[in-house]
Amino acid sequence: MKRVLITGAAGFLGSHLCDRFIKEGYYVIGMDNLITGDLKNIGHLFKLKEFEFYHHDVSKFVFVPGELHYILHFASPASPIDYLKIPIQTLKVSSLGTHNLLGLAKAKGARILVASTSEVYGDPLVHPQREDYWGNVNPIGPRGVYDEAKRFQEAITMAYHTYHQLETRIVRIFNTYGPRMRLNDGRVLPAFIGQALRGEDLTMFGDGSQTRSFCYVDDLVEGIYRLMMSDYQYPVNIGNPDEITIREFAEEIIKLTGTQQKIVSKPLPQDDPKQRQPDITVARRELKWEPTVNRAEGLRRTYDYFKGLSKEELYNSAHRFS
Ligand code: UDP
Repeated sequence: MKRVLITGAAGFLGSHLCDRFIKEGYYVIGMDNLITGDLKNIGHLFKLKEFEFYHHDVSKFVFVPGELHYILHFASPASPIDYLKIPIQTLKVSSLGTHNLLGLAKAKGARILVASTSEVYGDPLVHPQREDYWGNVNPIGPRGVYDEAKRFQEAITMAYHTYHQLETRIVRIFNTYGPRMRLNDGRVLPAFIGQALRGEDLTMFGDGSQTRSFCYVDDLVEGIYRLMMSDYQYPVNIGNPDEITIREFAEEIIKLTGTQQKIVSKPLPQDDPKQRQPDITVARRELKWEPTVNRAEGLRRTYDYFKGLSKEELYNSAHRFS
């Protein structure tokens, strides 16, 4: 049985990746320090003999006994609110944490895939974003701790590939949504759906003309799985190119949920990218991948998940670090 280590296993993407690798017949070792992750996302896996969990912060030395064939590094706060509240941990997990996991991969002879992000493009001056665009990032702005840590992560990963011949993969993840997103992580989709379910107005930042392109989680996981199994060493955008303004997105959520509430405008956060859309030519060519779940379907599935949350979860939505 091949053994895979998944960091950030109790998070949104990490938990879906655990499910996928278990389904593919792997032995999965999940690791998480539970700062932003939640054990309820992987509670269903604990009874399986193909799964084990380490409560550990990967910014510190990582020890895993036995063989390892694959590592997926998905530990990191991943929403602007999170990295504003825990900036140092955000910097450490993608810098020191990545270094530790690259060392582990080298020691075990494992292939490693690191989770990078569309944030490496910053507030992009090229649209849609192709992998060969170098980005427009403010290193000392509120997003700098995330963006620059992820850029460093790509650099050190390529260095291990070049100097140690390590088998590395880099995925640049664009906005993704689906079940198990944290209701209080500040991201636009859980924010809007949570507000609709609680009967509150939807808080649109700025005039809502900024755009994003939302990918359903199952599509993302498929893209990541294909990238891991491919022999492509360079960064690959994985995301859904279907671009929409945040105002249109708010209107879609109002329609989906049937809420009677209205859209209210709040100040636009500093350095909020004005537009974002992945160019997925490389993924199509190298991985024969493209998204298959459209937004109407993905939003329906996601709304079903949020509707199933308890009243306590719905109303206890203050941010964890506030
Ligand atoms: N946004 C919004 N209302 C909210 C939360 C976010 O209008 O309650 C906007 C935010 O300003 C950004 C977009 O939605 O333009 C996506 O924000 P998110 O935090 O989900 O992701 P990111 O900015 O990292 O793409």
